[in-house]
Amino acid sequence: IQVKWSLFSPWPLFRSGARSEADGGKKGGIQMDVDKFMDWVMTKNPGEKEFHQAVREVAESVQPVLAKNPQYEKFKILERMVEPERQIMFRVPWMDDNGDIQVNRGFRIEFNSAIGPYKGGLRFHPSVYIGIIKFLGFEQIFKNSLTGLPIGGGKGGSDFDPKGKSDNEVMRFTQSFMSELFRHIGPNTDVPAGDIGVGGREIGFMFGQYKKLKNSYDSVLTGKGINWGGSLVRPEATGYGAVYFADEMLKTRGDSFEGKTVVVSGSGNVAQYAVQKVNQLGGKCVTLSDSGGYIYDPDGITGEKWEFVMDLKNNRRGRISEYAEKFGCEYFPGERPWGVKCDVALPCATQNEISLEEAKTLVANGCFAVSEGANMPTVPAGVDYFVEKKILFGPAKAANAGGVATSALEMAQNHVGIPWSFEKVDEELHQIMINIHKNSWDAAKKYGHEGNLVVGANIAGFLKVADSMIDQGLV
Ligand code: NDP
Repeated sequence: IQVKWSLFSPWPLFRSGARSEADGGKKGGIQMDVDKFMDWVMTKNPGEKEFHQAVREVAESVQPVLAKNPQYEKFKILERMVEPERQIMFRVPWMDDNGDIQVNRGFRIEFNSAIGPYKGGLRFHPSVYIGIIKFLGFEQIFKNSLTGLPIGGGKGGSDFDPKGKSDNEVMRFTQSFMSELFRHIGPNTDVPAGDIGVGGREIGFMFGQYKKLKNSYDSVLTGKGINWGGSLVRPEATGYGAVYFADEMLKTRGDSFEGKTVVVSGSGNVAQYAVQKVNQLGGKCVTLSDSGGYIYDPDGITGEKWEFVMDLKNNRRGRISEYAEKFGCEYFPGERPWGVKCDVALPCATQNEISLEEAKTLVANGCFAVSEGANMPTVPAGVDYFVEKKILFGPAKAANAGGVATSALEMAQNHVGIPWSFEKVDEELHQIMINIHKNSWDAAKKYGHEGNLVVGANIAGFLKVADSMIDQGLV
């Protein structure tokens, strides 16, 4: 009986019932046992380790809020937040260039629509399974809230591997994928975008298929081409945003990117534009990576070398090792770049790409600022280490929110039918990143964790969604 109760009704098991010490017991906040809450989450969502990791971080961060505000406990906000509003899984059959039939699995997790239509990217990568999509969708709820724009949280994708596929294969796959997804999305329902393995080419094929099936030119995907409803600065937005965020962190110590050595991982969309913005702000990026290894160019990835990366990754779809061959620098196969001495690190590849050991190496080598362009790139013990060492640490849901924020600006332009200039979108993006930094900083301070932007971003993102859920009743 005890086991069944724990599965279906978590309430009696998480709460000590004790009044909180944070408010002297006056307001009647209830302490939550995060370990027991996580036992319940893990029992309900077995094997989804990335999702568990993302939930634990938020659950721990919002404890000071729960302690001071008993209504969040009363309305079981956290228990409701970890349960997606809707989860869609579907078959994606397609034919390869040899005429053989392939079958992949598609996902769309519509996690939370309290503050707007579901919004979040699609990831095409062989590692994709439900746990990855749920971690990304859960993070997206708080990230989207932080932008200050009316967008809910969602995420999707497939275990399809675009690497080595021809354009025709990618088109056949994406058309099949959209042939199911189209019935679940819409401009006021759910608006997907890109992520790993989904760039302008894939968004184009999916938009074409959606339009054909619905016979309607809807603002239903973002990251669209500039000729057909896309926004200027959307390609640049996540990378630029992560650097704007890092710049705000540096300013709190009277510092800037000028003369800084920067280590970047990844060489896709986020990494490419992070490098460009660092160059513009006077810093020097010395590494890029992909799943094969990393290149180290002590002279900096600038000018024609940056242009080469853009062509290599976006047109020729080659490996980063070709950079080393072309420009005669070092290439380290099978390694990540965190051993390279730097002032600032920008992880822009994938989740859990900075281990605790690598976090220690970065700090030991003098790195004093990390801004997460990728989603959840640092393992939890690494995050704790950065916080403990008081380096400037910008967690993903704050630091990389510029991409989705600019997607929301793309939606706004689509709704009124008027495109904005590059300067206007860039200015909006910059201001949004400044606001996210300030709001995260202020929330951390208010709840007794000054300077801890992990706690601050989680709390600032949580509050708006939690209050909206209460306003809208038990749905
Ligand atoms: P891309 O597909 O354009 O690039 C991904 C890069 O990361 C590639 O260099 C890829 O190398 C590398 N990479 C992917 N998986 C691994 C792995 N398991 N090990 C080592 N390297 C890997 O994706 P994006 O640049 O768009 O996304 C990068 C990160 O930023 C992701 O975490 C994504 O969720 C996050 N993000 C992206 C946003 C966007 O607007 N695009 C918005 C917010 C966050 P390879 O080609 O060899 O696989």
